[in-house]
Formats: sequence, structure tokens, C-alpha cells
Amino acid sequence: MPGARRVVTVGVVGAGQLALMMGEARSAAGVRLTVLAASPEDPAVAVADEVLYGTGFEESALRELAARCDVVTFDHELVDLDALGRLVAEGVAVRPGPAALLFAVDKAHQRRALAAAGLPVPRFSVASTGDDLDRVLEAVEGPVVVKRARGGYDGRGVAFPEGRGEARATLAAWAGEGEVLVEERLELVGEAALVLVRSLDGALTPYPLVDTRQAEGMCVETRYPSRVGPALKEEAAALGARVAETVEPVGVLAIEYFVTADGLVVNEVALRPHNTAHWTIEGTTADQFAQHLRAVAGLALAPVEATSPCAVMVNLVGGASPPQPTPAVDGVYVHDYAKAWRPGRKLGHVTALGDDPEETRVRAWESARRLGAPTEEGAWP
Ligand code: ADP
Repeated sequence: MPGARRVVTVGVVGAGQLALMMGEARSAAGVRLTVLAASPEDPAVAVADEVLYGTGFEESALRELAARCDVVTFDHELVDLDALGRLVAEGVAVRPGPAALLFAVDKAHQRRALAAAGLPVPRFSVASTGDDLDRVLEAVEGPVVVKRARGGYDGRGVAFPEGRGEARATLAAWAGEGEVLVEERLELVGEAALVLVRSLDGALTPYPLVDTRQAEGMCVETRYPSRVGPALKEEAAALGARVAETVEPVGVLAIEYFVTADGLVVNEVALRPHNTAHWTIEGTTADQFAQHLRAVAGLALAPVEATSPCAVMVNLVGGASPPQPTPAVDGVYVHDYAKAWRPGRKLGHVTALGDDPEETRVRAWESARRLGAPTEEGAWP
């Protein structure tokens, strides 16, 4: 058929909730989805066009995935970057590529590379094997945060030691297992996230800035629009463009900012659909999952408009007992990831849309409470 476009098959390493929501967005993006799942219980298994089994650390599984699809992308960063590098050298389209992924895999690399590009990051030092740990600690004044360079997420591998003695002990405990980051503990006015989608040719399609609230290292809630002033919004956009130039990803680039009295500081980047943009499913005309798929498939991105003046997303995290079926709250969209209940595990999220920020927030939390979210509603800073 002249003019007919062959449907691109996107292969996703991992089959968690992000792959699930990519699966739900695949028709909008006009692609097919093959997932590399660790288990038949993984959320995305139910929605994928094809399922392979294995992990991102098995080169044979990555090769099988690559053979079955046109482009490889990711649900998470638990992946062998060297194996990916070999696939790229053989001509496999891996998007984002291993050099960009390293920013998300390795916090020490991320801090070093962003600092070298002149971007604002917390003052930091890095302990490598054999380093004098006291020296590493002394390089950063005042209270510190200690982070494993690799393998930590959702607050795991991040410690807030009380005093230098505890900081030294954490550093000593972790330093045997790889690089450890010591960084200044900033006084936060708040936290915000900017999610951009970068197409193959480097063009950026941004979502509006959102405020985020974290508890125990996990995102609890996001709020659109962000309440930071216009100057900080401009700063977020300008820094975001520079981060994108430095990281050079394809697809979603999420930038988590610390908001301080002196302006924005880059905390973290992620190179996959991000929790802080789940609200875009109902809150915008082109959600992050469809946009990510379009970008990695080399398709044109859709224009992004907000569908509502306000959106509040609250994560549903497993409480002391499994959630019970519950009546819906008007104007609140519930996403159940169909994951087995476990205390502390992200099981879903809710998004409320509305005209008034406070009223929207009340509805989002009413729904989250009915669904058994144990996280405290808390207050925005
Ligand atoms: P993860 O990779 O597990 O998400 P982060 O490095 O983003 O961990 O840290 C989790 C949370 O801890 C942040 O969102 C922030 O609330 C707090 N935090 C991390 N680093 C600092 C810091 N240098 N100063 C103040 N708070 C921090």
C-alpha cells in the first residue's frame, strides 16, 4: 500500500507500572509493544503485544528483545550498560542510549557531569575504593546526605546521618560496595520537577513545571500548576534545556529540582516516564507515555496542552493491610497497577482534575484515603 507506514515495535526492558502505562498509551502513539518481563505477574504483561522473559542484566535476554523489536527502551535502569553498548555497536537502536542512561544509573557520574557542565548541583565529594573516608567527608561542610552512587531508588541507598560520626559510619558501611556520594544537605523551600520529552532530532517538548512532595525519599504528591514564581519557572526551563544538552537522551527526561532560597539546584535526572508526570495522562492532551513512545520510535511528538486548570496526583502506597474495594470520588482517576500488595510498595496513583487548587487537592486525598493510602496528607511547604 503506497504511503502506509509500517508500525514500529518498541521493546521495553522491564514490565512494571511504567511499561503498563506505556502499554495503555501504545495505540495513541501508534506503536506495538514487546516487554521483557521478570515474571508473569509483572503489571505490563497484561497489556503488551508480546512478552519475553528475562532481566536487563542478561545479555541473551536483551539480544532476544532487540531481535523482536525496532527500538529498545526502558521501564527502569536495572540494566547491563556494557551489554547495551555492544548492541548499539551492532546497530541496535537503544533509546535512550547507554551514555545517557549512565546519568540515571550512577549518581556520582551524574553529579560530576552536571557540575562539569556548569549546572547547579549540591556541593559533593565521592568516595571510591581505597579513598581516605575522612578526607571525603571533610570536603563537604555542614550536615550531609550520603548516597550510594548506584542501586538506590525511592529513598533506598540515601541516608540523612545525624552528625559526622554517623555519616562516617554510613560511608564506611557502603564504601566497600562501590562509589558513595557525600553531599551538602540543603535547606529546601520545596521540590519541583520538570519533565521534557526529547525527540530523535533533539527538539524538546516540555510539560509544565510541577511541585512535588516527598516522604521517606518517595514521591507522595505532585501539583500542577507549580506555585513557584515566574522567575523560577524560567530558571527551571533554562536549566532543563542545558541538562538536556548535557545528557542527550531520547524520550522522557525528568529533572527533579531542589527549590532553595538561592534558586534551583538539580537533584536528579531520570530517563524514562516519571512519577511526577503521571498527572499528564488525564491532565494534558498528550501524556508522557505516548510521547515517550513516539520519541523513541522516531515519530513526531504531539503538541501538549493542559486539559484543566489544576491537577493533583497522589501515589497509592501499600499500607498495613491490603486495600479494599471502595466507591469512586467524582473527577478523580484511579490507576491500579495490579501489583501484589506489600506495605511501602507503590500500588497505583490517583489524579484529580479541577478548577481550584485546594478543592482539587481535597478530592485527590479523599480518593487516596478511601483506597487505603497510608501516606500522610501533610502540608505543602
Ligand atoms: P532517590 O534517588 O532514592 O529518589 P534522591 O537523591 O532523589 O533519592 O533523594 C530523595 C529525597 O531526599 C529528595 O527528594 C529530597 O527530599 C531528599 N534529599 C536528597 N538529597 C538531599 C540534599 N542534598 N539536601 C536535602 N534533601 C535531600
